[in-house]
Amino acid sequence: MPDSQSVFQPATQDDLAQFVTENATNARRCLLPIGGGTACRDAATDDAIEVRLDKLNRVIDYPARDMTITVEAGIRMAELAKILAAENQRLPIDVPHAEQATLGGVIATNWSGSRRFGCGTIRDYVIGISAIDASGKRFSAGGRVVKNVAGYDLCKLLVGSRGTLAIISQVTLKLRPMAETSALVTLTFDSLCQVDAVLNRLLTSATRPMVLDVLGRMGTLARPNEETGRSAHPPQLIVGFEGASRETDWQIETLLAECRPFEPRTTGSFVGAAAEPLWSMLRDFSIGSKSSVTFKASLPPSRTCEFLRLATETGIVAQAHAGNGIVNGHLPDRVSKAEQAFAAIKPLGDLVRSCGGHLSLLRAPSGWPALDVAADSWAESLAWAQRLKRQLDPHNLLNPGVMAFGPA
Ligand SMILES: Cc1cc2nc3c(=O)[nH]c(=O)nc-3n(C[C@H](O)[C@H](O)[C@H](O)COP(=O)(O)OP(=O)(O)OC[C@H]3O[C@@H](n4cnc5c(N)ncnc54)[C@H](O)[C@@H]3O)c2cc1C
Repeated sequence: MPDSQSVFQPATQDDLAQFVTENATNARRCLLPIGGGTACRDAATDDAIEVRLDKLNRVIDYPARDMTITVEAGIRMAELAKILAAENQRLPIDVPHAEQATLGGVIATNWSGSRRFGCGTIRDYVIGISAIDASGKRFSAGGRVVKNVAGYDLCKLLVGSRGTLAIISQVTLKLRPMAETSALVTLTFDSLCQVDAVLNRLLTSATRPMVLDVLGRMGTLARPNEETGRSAHPPQLIVGFEGASRETDWQIETLLAECRPFEPRTTGSFVGAAAEPLWSMLRDFSIGSKSSVTFKASLPPSRTCEFLRLATETGIVAQAHAGNGIVNGHLPDRVSKAEQAFAAIKPLGDLVRSCGGHLSLLRAPSGWPALDVAADSWAESLAWAQRLKRQLDPHNLLNPGVMAFGPA
């Protein structure tokens, strides 16, 4: 390997294993796995080598009748979706930049979107994994069938490990059938207090939502109109359903009936193709802003509306996956300095810290210091993660400087 080499793009998994082995025995340079490169670049050193995995994109086996697929980890999410759609199947994880993002990147960051409430996370779909550790050793966990023997679950360990423990090279997924119909119901309310009350009511709903998102609007715009006393941009609850057409129709009607006593200001229902633009907006929210600062927070679902209230008061535009307590937020465009941004985020960080959550930046101007707010209770998990990292990567070659868990 030449000293000046800064990028390696393996064509096969064997090439990758050989390269990592040589690196571990000779130069011991740091390796940064890159899938589609859609996430912020993790802390790098000048001497590091980017290992670009997008050529590892083959389908190894697709026994569609078993509803599983084995693919190389560099496959793009959009390409994977196309292959599965041909068999009327899908992986129900909502990923922005799907044309670019890779399966390995989604697994390494444990990214999830609006359907997480009803469909779970990528962790629930990975049933087998092959990876290469920092010494170049290949290892596999799980298998190609849905029922697996119990044991130490390396599959789950690598989900969210952000490329710090091993380079994921191949994955077996279990799949779901494509939904016959999908629908989104929108309800606007005068206040986030009302939304909170509706979310509580939906805990005992007769319906089975796939999506429970809340969009909070900008504080300045959310100020009440002086004449009517009502906000021009009220918070919006978006509830998603999937299934057979009759089932979906029944769920929409039932939901609207359950929400009627809360007197929503407006309601709308969008079925099939009519719902597509709204699905896209929900999926791409985290990339759909001119703001230069985007964050992600996780906290108990019961505190989500409180968090959104604080966020909107600061002028933050936010999307909450309220059923899971995950919030993505964009700071106002006018915020351009790190001190300004950190001051705006501070009350949110305090809330998150006080209730056992976590907040970190997804996007920020280059050169800004990292911001990673976590409750004290995370310290023990971090210590475990660091101990594990030392065992699997004693020379700290894989994505050095990155915590062993992501922001989700
Ligand atoms: C605006 C925005 C910013 C984001 N920023 C972050 C962020 O800062 N941190 C975060 O965790 N998620 C972040 N995400 C989520 C991330 O973009 C998605 O999960 C995406 O699907 C990742 O896919 P990718 O192929 O582009 O991954 P990449 O951007 O290429 O990589 C993401 C991470 O996964 C690791 N990785 C990639 N492929 C592999 C592999 N095969 N084996 C082992 N490790 C691998 C990389 O080293 C890196 O740490 C962000 C999403 C958005 C919309």
